[in-house]
Amino acid sequence: VARTTSEYERRRDFRRTPEPRGGRRRASRRPRFVVHEHRARSPHYDLRLEIDGALASWAVPKGPSTDPRVRRLAVPTEDHPLEYADFEGVIPAGEYGAGAVIVWDRGRYRNLREDCSLARARREGKLSFWLEGEKLRGAWALVRTGRARGERERWLLVKQRDEHADARRRPTSTEPRSVLSGRTSAELQAEAEG
Ligand code: MN
Repeated sequence: VARTTSEYERRRDFRRTPEPRGGRRRASRRPRFVVHEHRARSPHYDLRLEIDGALASWAVPKGPSTDPRVRRLAVPTEDHPLEYADFEGVIPAGEYGAGAVIVWDRGRYRNLREDCSLARARREGKLSFWLEGEKLRGAWALVRTGRARGERERWLLVKQRDEHADARRRPTSTEPRSVLSGRTSAELQAEAEG
């Protein structure tokens, strides 16, 4: 099978970064999602949704809010390989995205749009999905709102009103630990720096 070099691969030196190289692409009936907390120069969260064998990705500077009145900016980034859903580690100084990455939440999710596939919903800029994570649950919308001239697309991530909506919860501050290792990104960073 011929493979083309993706933007993900072009941006990284796999001799230096501990991030997975990837390559596996397979259809899944129960797609996965992951939210990484990324302690980069500009700290942010990365929401990644498995769509057609890759992880469609958005950087969410403030992270998800469970308050349905709150809209969180989400900026698309390059697709990541499926293996990235399990990645937790420290990207070395000088490399693209340098800093600690933890698996802040993960699980399965499903498309709530009955009229079209996830891939088409993404192209249309209107995703509606149900998350089954450890921290994030219920219905969410991720909607493209356009882009300024010469700038990246802007999307908004919004919790939908359901039994999992909660205006008082602040999961990004009260539940900061990795669901994989129990560590915070600061602890992981400190370990790496020895
Ligand atoms: Mn990131």
